[in-house]
Amino acid sequence: MRAILVAVAFVAAACAHDAAEDPIRAATSPEVDDRVAVDMTLTRTVDGAWFVDIETGKPVAALMFARSRGDYRRDTWRPLGAVAVTRRGVRDALEAESPFTRAAFEVTPFSGILQKDYTPFIPYSDGGWSIYPGQFEVYAFDDAAEIDAIPDDLGGVSLPGTRTRYRFVDAQGASFLAFGERTADEIAFEEKDAFVYLGDATPIETEHLAAIADPSLPAWLRESIAAYLPRLFEFYAGSFAYAPPGRPMVLIAPLDTDRNGISLKGGTLKGQIAMQLGGSALTDPDRRDDAERHVRGFLAHEAAHLWNAEGFQPSNTHAWIHEGGAEALAFDATARLDPADGAAFARDRYQSALDACQEALAGGSLATATRRGDFRAHYDCGAIVMLAAATASTDGDVAALWNRLAERARNTEALSPALFMLTLADLGADAGAAAAIDAFLHETHADPAAAARFLFDATGVAYAVNGDGGVELAVDGG
Ligand SMILES: [Zn+2]
Repeated sequence: MRAILVAVAFVAAACAHDAAEDPIRAATSPEVDDRVAVDMTLTRTVDGAWFVDIETGKPVAALMFARSRGDYRRDTWRPLGAVAVTRRGVRDALEAESPFTRAAFEVTPFSGILQKDYTPFIPYSDGGWSIYPGQFEVYAFDDAAEIDAIPDDLGGVSLPGTRTRYRFVDAQGASFLAFGERTADEIAFEEKDAFVYLGDATPIETEHLAAIADPSLPAWLRESIAAYLPRLFEFYAGSFAYAPPGRPMVLIAPLDTDRNGISLKGGTLKGQIAMQLGGSALTDPDRRDDAERHVRGFLAHEAAHLWNAEGFQPSNTHAWIHEGGAEALAFDATARLDPADGAAFARDRYQSALDACQEALAGGSLATATRRGDFRAHYDCGAIVMLAAATASTDGDVAALWNRLAERARNTEALSPALFMLTLADLGADAGAAAAIDAFLHETHADPAAAARFLFDATGVAYAVNGDGGVELAVDGG
């Protein structure tokens, strides 16, 4: 699961992979598709008005929206016929006096923040839009009253088989950018879990990337992003033995905020990073370096997820695997892409992770972190585990570790600690190193500094102990 949603100031780019749930789809047979087909067409007219036209393959009593947080549709979807937006329990639905096969609405793009969900329409400063198809996904019901009992969280709920197909049309002749490809005038698709860009901006395009950065961002930042993103994605593409499906996309929209510092909101979706960026630091020359480092760090972490979380089943309980993996991959990528002080940068990032990890371990073991509500521990301790594991393996490289782990994960199921340990053995880590990593992950550590020293001694990570007994990584420590 991927997603977003928390605006963060300077610290910690939380990319909360646990934040948004994905509705469970009704089971379907691969041979016979007996789902009700719903064709959802969103049109922008020459005048800039928006219309939704819906056609169903058979008469339905109601269509229930898969995502209903914020109750925004009753105010922003104006009925053009007999079918209107209703609220049933905690869910938005479309209903009429009698069963229907067509419905039409004029829609005002809703751009407000929805708690733990994606904004339906994110505006760019030049008239462009990021549109989230999942906000248009529906389920077809023969009895509207059934919707009353459907909870907010669709996990485990059996829903009527429905196949929503999307068609976005633009009468203004702007281009769509979706799933790594650019198309003029209209696109049709079924993937709901990725923003579709509509607008006139010229993308940053390479073989491995298609990106949009809002023109209202300061020129220095746009130049920095345009210089960095192609190198970042080329680095990852070259580091991994497999590629994410489709050309990766990055969509950077403005974030209207009066927050001091930098505000970043975003995360990964299917094959893309979607983010919004704003805050006073972006226009303060004294804070430019910090802001640039923060944005690059965020992009490096999220881009890593397009390789290390896409196509695998990330585990919430063992989130240190994909979150720690993305942290370590990002530290290494940033280090390699900045040869001037890359090694020092990586060392500083690992050191910060080590310090934070020791603090986290004082509250309990990493294995219990999710339960204890300390999700951040997965990032920090996970990065340290990756450093130790890569150092202990013969390749000495986090990307090599991930290539092997991904190969194993593809043939089995979820990313798990057991799979990680098998991967370590594949890569030539000795039994002592493996046992130390296992202990670091699962045991409760009365003395977290001693636990770190034990881990590093067993895996070969270079460090020193300072006058206060603190563990300090060596500059070339891994
Ligand atoms: Zn992440």
